[in-house]
Amino acid sequence: MRVIVIGAGPAGSTAAETAARLGAEVILVERRMEIGSPVQCGGFIPEASELRDLLPDAVLPETLVEIPERCVLNRTKVQRLYAPSGRSAEFPVAGRCVDRRSFDRYLAHRAARAGAQLVVGTEAEICGESVRLSGRHADIIDAEVIVGADGPSSTVAKAMGSIQKDEPGICLEYEMADVDIDKGAAEMYFGERWAPGGYAWIIPLGDDIANVGIGVRRSYIRGRMDLAGILKRFIAEHPQAGERLRRGEVVAVMRGIVPAGGMPERIQSGRMLLAGDAAGHVMATSGGGVPLAVVAGRIAGEVAASGDMDIYTERVERELGAPLRGSVMIRRVVDRTMRSDRSMDLLFSLLDPMTMKDIQRGRLPAPLEKLKSLADFKL
Ligand SMILES: Cc1cc2nc3c(=O)[nH]c(=O)nc-3n(C[C@H](O)[C@H](O)[C@H](O)COP(=O)(O)OP(=O)(O)OC[C@H]3O[C@@H](n4cnc5c(N)ncnc54)[C@H](O)[C@@H]3O)c2cc1C
Repeated sequence: MRVIVIGAGPAGSTAAETAARLGAEVILVERRMEIGSPVQCGGFIPEASELRDLLPDAVLPETLVEIPERCVLNRTKVQRLYAPSGRSAEFPVAGRCVDRRSFDRYLAHRAARAGAQLVVGTEAEICGESVRLSGRHADIIDAEVIVGADGPSSTVAKAMGSIQKDEPGICLEYEMADVDIDKGAAEMYFGERWAPGGYAWIIPLGDDIANVGIGVRRSYIRGRMDLAGILKRFIAEHPQAGERLRRGEVVAVMRGIVPAGGMPERIQSGRMLLAGDAAGHVMATSGGGVPLAVVAGRIAGEVAASGDMDIYTERVERELGAPLRGSVMIRRVVDRTMRSDRSMDLLFSLLDPMTMKDIQRGRLPAPLEKLKSLADFKL
């Protein structure tokens, strides 16, 4: 079985490793010159115990259960949320703050060791029945299976006519040094001034180093979209965060988009499969996609090696379907609340911290069920 995997992020490298281990002939194509760089991620990955709870039906590959210590920069114990009013709440979440550059390389090294052929600095494009490669390596390749693990602007998804309908999150993130952070807490900040239609975050990477970012949605921004201006305002003026961040220095700037609408109608068509961001495998409540990308990559690799493409959608649905759908449903409910700080503050006052944790995991608690029925949502 000849398999071409497009994109060497977590989904693609995992798919390539899995298919190669199962005996397929695998080519893994990556357009970047350097796998994992530039980083477009906060690097927050919950510990395995949390992942088992988040994705209870998924079989977690060992690469998610035991991330090598050299890739883990820091560990957190709690997640702290700030309402627009400044009121905060926290719940326990054991988290790993990973260096995505090292983590993505680790996954790619494993794919290579399993026998996959890696082709970096090379762009792949679907051309009828074939895949055209250009860049460092120019070729036209025929493969029995094409795995589209090519991220949120997937060329394979476009070729399949698989469109994500919901508005994506647009992110800007700085790695900052010399900041005064709580090393044990991953923090999320809500409010129209700080992150319209999304949230701002601080993910601690060390004693005084953190990823500080915002994820917003265009339709929530009045007037011109100025991501840098919004993040600057958060860092300089947020009543709680500003005090701790404003003297820090920016050492890296990262941008990216995050699908927020769950899986599109089709994630498989003929011999093409989509995995990871390309297939909307992202928790819509948090924007976290790495664990789902790795799980989906594993399933894509297994299915690709088996040659029975028709089982893919059902296999993904079985392992990831419920949490993904739950998170999209909750995001749509909370979307209306996010249009005003007053309603966000009210929601915060209604929910206890463990209920907030449930919401993040895509589980709708009773007060929101009530809100949903009051608002007569069509989900
Ligand atoms: C700012 C930001 C912060 C985030 N923070 C977190 C976080 O803290 N925790 C978390 O779990 N998730 C986070 N995410 C989401 C997470 O980064 C993604 O869900 C995850 O990277 C998805 O993995 P993937 O393998 O599907 O896609 P990607 O990691 O996007 O990999 C796709 C790869 O395909 C390559 N590619 C694309 N097109 C082609 C082509 N035509 N030919 C060849 N190669 C191609 C790209 O270069 C890329 O390397 C964040 C996202 C952003 C933007």
